[in-house]
Amino acid sequence: MTNGHPLRLYNSLGRRIEDFVPSGDVTGMYSCGPTVYAYQHLGNMRAYVFADTVRRALRWKGIEVRHVVNITDVGHAVSDADTGDDKMEVAAARERRSVLEIADSYTRVFFEDLKALNVLPAAEYPRASAYVPQMIEFAKTLEERGYTYRLPAGLYFDTANDPRYGELAQLHAEGQREAARVEQVKGRRNKTDFALWRTEEPGRRRVLRWDSPWGWGTPGWHLECSVMSIALLGPHFDIHTGGIDHRELHHVNEIAQSEAFLADGQPWVRYWLHNEFLQLGGAKMAKSAGGAPRLADLTEAGYHPAAFRLFLLGGHYRSQLDFTTGAMDAAQATLKRLVARVQPLRPLPAIETLEEAARTADPAGTLDLIDAAISADFNTARLLAALQDALRDPRITSDGQRTLVAAADALLGLGLADLDPADLEDRRSDASLSDQERHEIEQLVAERTQARKERDWARADQIRAELDARGVQVTDTPEGPAWQLR
Ligand code: AMP
Ligand code: ZN
Repeated sequence: MTNGHPLRLYNSLGRRIEDFVPSGDVTGMYSCGPTVYAYQHLGNMRAYVFADTVRRALRWKGIEVRHVVNITDVGHAVSDADTGDDKMEVAAARERRSVLEIADSYTRVFFEDLKALNVLPAAEYPRASAYVPQMIEFAKTLEERGYTYRLPAGLYFDTANDPRYGELAQLHAEGQREAARVEQVKGRRNKTDFALWRTEEPGRRRVLRWDSPWGWGTPGWHLECSVMSIALLGPHFDIHTGGIDHRELHHVNEIAQSEAFLADGQPWVRYWLHNEFLQLGGAKMAKSAGGAPRLADLTEAGYHPAAFRLFLLGGHYRSQLDFTTGAMDAAQATLKRLVARVQPLRPLPAIETLEEAARTADPAGTLDLIDAAISADFNTARLLAALQDALRDPRITSDGQRTLVAAADALLGLGLADLDPADLEDRRSDASLSDQERHEIEQLVAERTQARKERDWARADQIRAELDARGVQVTDTPEGPAWQLR
């Protein structure tokens, strides 16, 4: 039992479960990273905890990984259809800070959140703004090969030239392509065509701008991922991850331009893995006016980041997951019980791989259950259940349990070796709210009242869910809404 069960995963390309077979000694893996114009919300963090689960599973199997996560600090237009201003510039104007300051500060918070969530660091975090000359070269090559056309709005990729366009999204029929809701760009030949370069409009000089053969402007959003992944991982690599929204547009376009660029008849990337959404109030958690909850909201409310990680791992990555305070309370309570059971077993042995764990022992076949769970398309919920069962199993000695906890946590990344139960105390009271938090809560309550006045029930429910996520309960009284922490 060196590598255990074959690692089976669901490949979005082809939509089927397959064995993962690495193509070389080091597995290249690329994850679409954050656009740093705002805080990453809890939904965004689900994408990185998922990528981390993949990394831990590969490490468990003794497979070496080189992981790259990009930082989008330029190029992401307000509309995914490449129209409108750059998200970074809009944020800079809103916050009256420079684009550089905005990018730096949100990137820093992103790294802090990754660390708090015990996500293994990537080998590289390339910033899009540092790769613009390479992006221009890439687009020039596509233009020389006749894959593009010029418009006043910029340089466009002609998707009609690519017979396999949209395979990932299963956009085979023309009708489906048409159904994609994209904005009109004057002169665009096909609705699926996308910008490689966005030339600035005359008289509207951008803050972020580079000179190019197509005039001053900015690169198209999809370009950075193709260029930086190829630069840092080589022309072909094994794994590409992202949220499920990327399966429909961003990754489709990454594939089209990369395969046109490489022109070697090979599929660009072999395995495409996508996590489902974290939902709030029945809808995708997104950066809405009120602000989707982020990790700091949880920790301020008294939750441990590991409790959020446990909550995520309690669901399967390909299922939608509803974020609620009730679910977080349950996760924190489960974590607390788990830590209480593990504490007398400390110190735990250092284990990262199945081989290391199997060298010690396989108590009552539990190691095999753990391996089977992670090998079954990363079934972390089953893995957690196997760990909890094992901790209650009287046949397993303390030494056996030590091995199991260390092995399971090499995959779960909860930090069971040293989590302090004192950090998992109960949630705080109203009195500990800062003025800023109180102000934000009151603003959300006011927005909800306004939405109700306008009979916008969907919006009102959405805001209620956002408040719930911050642990705030609203009651409607004859004198108006009242709120309290739950
Ligand atoms: P963005 O910063 O918008 O480019 O998103 C960063 C990553 O988070 C991408 O992989 C998205 O697909 C993912 N993502 C965005 N919203 C959610 C959500 N509600 N649940 C899970 N993943 C998400
Ligand atoms: Zn990407």
